[in-house]
Amino acid sequence: MIQKEEINQTLRKYDKKKVTIATIGSHSALQILKGAKDEGFKTIVISRKDQAIVYDQFNVGDEKIVIDDYKDILDEKIQEKLIDKNVILIPHGSFVEYVGAKNIEDKIKIPMFGNRLVLKWESNRDKQRDWLIKAGIKMPKKFSSPEEIDRLVMVKFPGAKGGKGYFLAKNKKEFNAKMKKHERKGEEYSIQEYVIGTLMYPHYFHSPLESRTEMLSMDIRYESNIDGLTRIPSAIVSGYKVDPSYVVTGNIPIVARESLLPQVLEMGMNVVETSKKLFPLGLVGPFCIESVCTKDLEITVFEISARIVAGTNLYINGSPYSQILYKEPMSTGRRIAREIKSALKRGRIEDIVY
Ligand code: ATP
Repeated sequence: MIQKEEINQTLRKYDKKKVTIATIGSHSALQILKGAKDEGFKTIVISRKDQAIVYDQFNVGDEKIVIDDYKDILDEKIQEKLIDKNVILIPHGSFVEYVGAKNIEDKIKIPMFGNRLVLKWESNRDKQRDWLIKAGIKMPKKFSSPEEIDRLVMVKFPGAKGGKGYFLAKNKKEFNAKMKKHERKGEEYSIQEYVIGTLMYPHYFHSPLESRTEMLSMDIRYESNIDGLTRIPSAIVSGYKVDPSYVVTGNIPIVARESLLPQVLEMGMNVVETSKKLFPLGLVGPFCIESVCTKDLEITVFEISARIVAGTNLYINGSPYSQILYKEPMSTGRRIAREIKSALKRGRIEDIVY
């Protein structure tokens, strides 16, 4: 684990007037880089060859570093080059997925926005559950073995792959059959009650500088084929068996009915407060609570993503909520850059970067 003090030392050597914002070219990079430019920063996009066309087209990176593989960011020379340019790296979902939580903890010497200690709590389902339960959040029932399955469950496998490979089962027999069918035998899994309701993914931002947790926007993930299945009348497909899958394909905007907002806001604040008790600095910057709202208007949470999520890409020009909080277009990407700008001004960059 790279120690916080090591990152602080690097930050102390930075020319604070020449801080550059960099990210890996994927996921929410367009939004992050546009936000950084809107706040007056220089930007660097570190892109794989096959993705470079995107950043050329939209021209959001003042400089481009082309790599063969996302893991090449671990290369000492690339890291040194970025540190020489006073880079603050913005992590996103693809960054964590492709580079790996352990590599980020142990090998990324570049100062990163947010708190890398959160990776330990987020990447382990049991730790994540412990954190959310401690924050008073309702979670789907967890089954420790297939024998216990007494209702519809979702079987999940490690690593955020946008729901890829997950399956549903109603009992042990179905569980065993699907493990075989999906060639998952011998793999680690977790079994979770399937909660029926409306999906809601509120996007929060915790600012240690303002001591405030903001709810900037909200989305629903569009998933294939489950969202397509709802368009086929059951009368037509009766007898035709299709297994639902939950592979994310896009995001659609949503605003919650206003009477749900107290629950949504409190969840975000409680998760942040609890994180401060669990690890130093606690949660910093953007995060998303992935939830389902049941017919009894109770919000159940199945996951937390402790960084910018791709659903925020809907709101590059701001959301209905961010427009009330800010009188200018404020995406999550821009909010990150605003926090960095403000921390640099107040001499508090060490409070938001690890
Ligand atoms: P990511 O980390 O990229 O968000 P993931 O691979 O960890 O994705 P989840 O977010 O846990 O996957 O789940 C994928 C999808 O499966 C969700 O968006 C939701 O549609 C559905 N889902 C997950 N858990 C539940 C649950 N307990 N009840 C109902 N639906 C669920």
